[in-house]
Amino acid sequence: MPREKNLRLKEAPFRAGFSCLTDAGMRYQLIRSSRRTVSLEVTPEGALIVRAPAQMPDRAVERFVLDRADWIKKHLSHLKPRPEAFSAWEEQLLRKKAQKLLPELIARYGRMLCVSPATIRVTAAKKRFGSCSARGSVCFSFRLFAYPREAVEYVVAHELAHLKHLNHSPAFYRLLGEVMPDYRRRARLLAHPAEDCLRNGMGGI
Ligand SMILES: [Zn+2]
Repeated sequence: MPREKNLRLKEAPFRAGFSCLTDAGMRYQLIRSSRRTVSLEVTPEGALIVRAPAQMPDRAVERFVLDRADWIKKHLSHLKPRPEAFSAWEEQLLRKKAQKLLPELIARYGRMLCVSPATIRVTAAKKRFGSCSARGSVCFSFRLFAYPREAVEYVVAHELAHLKHLNHSPAFYRLLGEVMPDYRRRARLLAHPAEDCLRNGMGGI
């Protein structure tokens, strides 16, 4: 049985904190309907499904999910590990694409945001496409590079914007919106599983 927890929207205060679990790291499927409350479900496959009222703003949904990162992590940690989705050959292909794209994208968005990361690493992270540390290093999972370029650009801009705001505060999203007005649309591309993107050619490799 999928685990589901119904949570009322009014119980979701915004807490600023440094975490990339939602928009940059944790993909979720958003299902809107005429319901009045928001619910989170972690499926046995480890997918996160968010059901929300039709009129609830995207930003409020994102915050709702972010506020429940601990609950989500706890449920995901109880799931059996999934087998590796990518072959060694596919990983190599994606790492090559990362090496090719990252210098250019970091330079472009770094210039726009007036930031420059101390170190840049490509990791094998499964749940986060990107992360950023207080010391100014940014990491990107090779899995991110299975996605279309506009989704990769979103994660790069998102992590670089964290070099100015180490949180998901309104100021952080304002800054992100200045350099990438359509970042919400791009973030939604990350809702598809990375392996599907690679295999149906969405990622443009
Ligand atoms: Zn973030």
